[in-house]
Amino acid sequence: MITVIQAKERINQATKTLKSIEINLSDGLNKIISEDIISPINMPPFDQSAMDGYALGDIASESYQVIGEIKAGDNPKDLTLSKGQAIRIFTGAVVPNGAIAIAQQEIVARIDDSIKLTATLIEHKNIRPKGEQIIEGQLALEKGTLITPATIGFLYGIGIDKVSVYSSPKVAIIATGSELVSPGQKLTLGQIYESNSFALKAAIETLGVEASIISVKDNYEITRDAIKQALENNDLVLTSGGISVGDYDFVGEAFQEVGVKEHFYKVQQKPGKPLFFGKKNETTLFGLPGNPASALSCFYVYVMPTIKKMMGHTDSFDLIETATLTSPYARKGSFTHFLKAQVKNNKITLLNAQSSAMLSSFAAANCLACFPGEQEAWNTGDTIQVIRLD
Ligand code: AMP
Ligand code: MG
Repeated sequence: MITVIQAKERINQATKTLKSIEINLSDGLNKIISEDIISPINMPPFDQSAMDGYALGDIASESYQVIGEIKAGDNPKDLTLSKGQAIRIFTGAVVPNGAIAIAQQEIVARIDDSIKLTATLIEHKNIRPKGEQIIEGQLALEKGTLITPATIGFLYGIGIDKVSVYSSPKVAIIATGSELVSPGQKLTLGQIYESNSFALKAAIETLGVEASIISVKDNYEITRDAIKQALENNDLVLTSGGISVGDYDFVGEAFQEVGVKEHFYKVQQKPGKPLFFGKKNETTLFGLPGNPASALSCFYVYVMPTIKKMMGHTDSFDLIETATLTSPYARKGSFTHFLKAQVKNNKITLLNAQSSAMLSSFAAANCLACFPGEQEAWNTGDTIQVIRLD
């Protein structure tokens, strides 16, 4: 059975970034830019006033004659200031020809059409020069940049409304199990509510990715056909349940029959030992265990970085965040343990109710604390890796 590190390496190796597409920038949140973006304009596009006040023809006159007004949006191309002259101006307005500085109104005394400065001013003060932020033709954002709300604002601000990004995967989730009932229905003895597909879909949506859901009973043909169809129409397929060794676990057999190439089955970890990973042509397939905490844990450890890599993230498989334990932890054996925990101010509190069948602690957790296979005991204050859930 392979280790967690080996499992991640194999998935990382088998995962390719998807093709580049052009989209509306407004749809770009959380996507990764796939080509360098060059600024098509100077920003600001003109010398711009940074203050409400007065544009001055010089900074040394005793008083200035106010000869006009320019507000944001005005086009004052015919206005020119000479020495001893001023123009009333507002933030964002075009600085007129001949202006040496802008005096903010707080340092100006005005009587009729004449003003005096009540404090000294230096040249260019309160003028945002044309191209101060970025110059036409300059690199605005590098290929590989994540699109955030600020990125969207910055790019719209320089007149860009279309961007090339890496595609998001098309994802299907197949929930297997004859005991599973959809929400809203009444449970009869032996039944439980289907919850894995909803948790997985929600986790996928945090990446701005859509997922479709299919539910199947524990029937070999139905399971096989659902998997076959999902593999044909998606970049990524997640199955939940049916991957263990029970008489009604049909998923593994179905994978074989539809021609899935197995990369591994089972990992030295708790929860989530019976994790399957494979490929059919270009489509990636995870067979997630059915136990809800196992399925979700495997999602965060393996599926999340896979989706991110498909979307152009380059470091999604590197666990880099660490924090310190507030209690000791010990366990036997060589399996990696992923424990539901709360991390705050870099301190980890392990939660109760760690069973793979339970989601109660997962629902209260903001991280998974990772206890790798090589070690058996940890002390308070030890630094370990965490996978953030938020
Ligand atoms: P399995 O791997 O199919 O044997 O399922 C393991 C456990 O997880 C069983 O107790 C199932 O009832 C439960 N389970 C499987 N799939 C789901 C699901 N989609 N939602 C909630 N519980 C599930
Ligand atoms: Mg089952």
